Amino acid sequence: MSAQIRLFMCLKDNFGALLHDPASGRTAAIDAPEAAPVEAALAATGWTLTDILVTHHHRDHTGGIEELKDRHRCRVVAPDGEADAIPGVDETMRDGGNIRIGAIEGRVIATPGHTAAPATLYFPAEKLVFAGDTLFSIGCGRVIEGTMDEMWQSMLKLRALADDTMMYCGHEYTLANIRFAKTIEPDNAVLAARERAVTQLLAAGNPTAPSLMGDEKKANPFLRADLPDVAKAVGMAGAPAAEVFAEIRTRKNKF
Ligand code: ZN
Ligand code: FE
Repeated sequence: MSAQIRLFMCLKDNFGALLHDPASGRTAAIDAPEAAPVEAALAATGWTLTDILVTHHHRDHTGGIEELKDRHRCRVVAPDGEADAIPGVDETMRDGGNIRIGAIEGRVIATPGHTAAPATLYFPAEKLVFAGDTLFSIGCGRVIEGTMDEMWQSMLKLRALADDTMMYCGHEYTLANIRFAKTIEPDNAVLAARERAVTQLLAAGNPTAPSLMGDEKKANPFLRADLPDVAKAVGMAGAPAAEVFAEIRTRKNKF
């Protein structure tokens, strides 16, 4: 039996997620923005928390760790480059390293840019990726600790994932991201379709995550900075992709 996922909201607009392996009974929280919604998700599913996998050190992803660890004695696994800034870490994960939650096997993809050493968690057999604040649906995280070049390289690593991978991200920012993306690619049909779908999801009170990597590749401007039409749209025809990416990211900061 394959992985089961429970997605829920935390804080103002953070996604929380539980990843459950029916074979072993292990359950991992992907980040822990705050304890109470994680506890509510555990109660609703009947799952027992055994692990917390942390994508990066920001407080809105780590604030619930200590309380959850106190109660559940769960294992806390964090990116090796950020473990000092994260409470309760038992194990660290490095780029290319393996992650195991019972029978569920994944791989760490280091995606620097938003922070210095965030971990994107990729589960190829399950066709799942948890991108933290590196990649959002139709957006990407602010480049805070890394460089624009690094963030663009991280985008390329994520763009290499299979189209049928379901992407879970750290925040419900999708509609605002779409509004911005339309300023870059107003005629993108996949983007227009995503806007219609997202508007319906939100109107029904549903999350816009996960999204398909195939759709992200076709509609997320931050994954498309090396396309001639996108460079042209920001007045940078012929410029290096990392510079086009930087321009799009800078425009989004001001949007
Ligand atoms: Zn963050
Ligand atoms: Fe965040």
